[in-house]
Amino acid sequence: MKTKLRHTLVQYHGGGYDGCIWEWNFFYIDAEGEFHCIEATGHAGCDTAEKADALLALEANSPIDDYDGPPIHTYDVMMVEDIESFAKESNAIHVLNVLVWFDHYNDPDIEFFAICTECNECIFEDGILEDWRGCGGIAITADALLCSDCYSTGMCGVCNEYVGQSGFKFEQDLDDCSEAIQNELHDWDEQHGPLCQDCWENKRDSLIADEQGDLLSLSLATGTPGLFSDEMRWLWA
Ligand SMILES: [Zn+2]
Ligand SMILES: [Zn+2]
Repeated sequence: MKTKLRHTLVQYHGGGYDGCIWEWNFFYIDAEGEFHCIEATGHAGCDTAEKADALLALEANSPIDDYDGPPIHTYDVMMVEDIESFAKESNAIHVLNVLVWFDHYNDPDIEFFAICTECNECIFEDGILEDWRGCGGIAITADALLCSDCYSTGMCGVCNEYVGQSGFKFEQDLDDCSEAIQNELHDWDEQHGPLCQDCWENKRDSLIADEQGDLLSLSLATGTPGLFSDEMRWLWA
């Protein structure tokens, strides 16, 4: 390669695809100046040293096709600050792909890392993507990259789906519950939380059903509360 870059991760726009934003692609120039393709999925992706040379020869601010932002970012992977800015500024999916690539590349001089979105600690091996959302067309992207600790402590205590450390904010859904049920739900959340919305609502609904069953038996057996009293409104309203 013609470039003088060494130990450098290069991030560039590899091209766009229908209905989505510009797609970032990556290559790496090693200590000897050799080219390594990391990701070249776009139509302008650089999968050879020649294409990478041509890309690097462009002025940093010259437009590629009709994109007029900065086309190329370079990161010195021997510099912790450079890896840190890559990890913070880039999309979680790309950060994970590049992290996995460096993990397999396995150069003992390079300690590549990502940063956990939740706890801000370094992730050296595998991270877990979360907060999936659409980004136009059929494409989806993830907004969060988590370390395994944050992932496991953010799983719903009942179904194991990831819900984040604080879980479902259920306080607004307690209005129709008796005080006894509200307390029970608070305790249950404390013991098993965080909880996802589905599991939490199932628990609430089963507690309400139990309570109504008890009230109905009580009402039928003793006449108190009366079947048409306010307490039994749910039965006939
Ligand atoms: Zn974490
Ligand atoms: Zn759940």
